[in-house]
Amino acid sequence: MKELIKVDEKKYAEALVLDNTSILPGQEGTIRLGVGRLPSDNRLYIFAHVYRSLKPGPTVLMIGGVHGDEVNGVMITRNMIEEKVFEKLDRGTVISVPLLNVYGFINFSREVPDGKDINRSFPGTMAGSLAARVARTLTKKVLPHVDCILDFHTGGSSRFNYPQIRYSKKDKIAEQLALAFGAPYTIQKPIIPKSLRKVASDMGLPTIVYEAGESVRLDGYSIAKGMQGTKQVLQSLGMLNDANLSRSNKTILFSKTGWIRANFSGIFVWSKQSGHKVTKGEPIGQIKDPFGMKTVTVHAVREGYIIGHNNASVVNQGDALFHVGYDYEDIAI
Ligand SMILES: [Zn+2]
Repeated sequence: MKELIKVDEKKYAEALVLDNTSILPGQEGTIRLGVGRLPSDNRLYIFAHVYRSLKPGPTVLMIGGVHGDEVNGVMITRNMIEEKVFEKLDRGTVISVPLLNVYGFINFSREVPDGKDINRSFPGTMAGSLAARVARTLTKKVLPHVDCILDFHTGGSSRFNYPQIRYSKKDKIAEQLALAFGAPYTIQKPIIPKSLRKVASDMGLPTIVYEAGESVRLDGYSIAKGMQGTKQVLQSLGMLNDANLSRSNKTILFSKTGWIRANFSGIFVWSKQSGHKVTKGEPIGQIKDPFGMKTVTVHAVREGYIIGHNNASVVNQGDALFHVGYDYEDIAI
């Protein structure tokens, strides 16, 4: 079988050095990467867990909590540490960062305390804002060691995403990783400027982004699918052999997505939700004025699948209500 990611065996035999900590093949370690200090003098760190098999193989970065309130990704990443999944690697290295944005996490916020979004601050600079410094630390200290990235997110501001992998269709290795993940939905999405995916792409690192559930809220299905998909990716790279893994053997691949927006302001009640298939013209929700005078029906504009929906109870005209995937094909894995 042709290797998806080429491994430099000589380089693998060397110690992986993060900050001043060296980790040799066959070893594991937990490292705190210093980022800076807050006005309160509290120090900010990025915790990275490193697991190295003796046998040479790819180095995979698994990262959660780039947005601090997106807890499903943090759960997926930390659960796999607790389950000791990476202690059984057949080959290669996993670097796991369960929670990049520690301060967003304790403040139920997507951003860091100065109001900036880390995922719009890459590649970052140590002379910049806190978000720029977190981004720079990851870019400079971690990314040079890795071969590919799995980045875990959820929908933001009350938007629920059905478990889905996003990747750039220009990146053929990312496409293979995306399909190996076997999420219910797989979506070709252009790269957002200044995102982790952008800096990774510039460094030649295939990256897939898992989007599942909603910020602040835990979703068991999203977490289970994220863990299953990660194991399938590691299996596809020959890094993990879990005979007990119940594999996903299909995904729906979308090459186009679009938003259905509110054409009226009021109380929003959806009748179809993420994961549902819709047909052209089908009623999928209603917007009601608060005084019992008017109800407006929301319709699907084309045939497709709802890949995300808005759980907000009150919406303004123009707000995004449903994210729908079009131009799809069923793919067997
Ligand atoms: Zn996010």
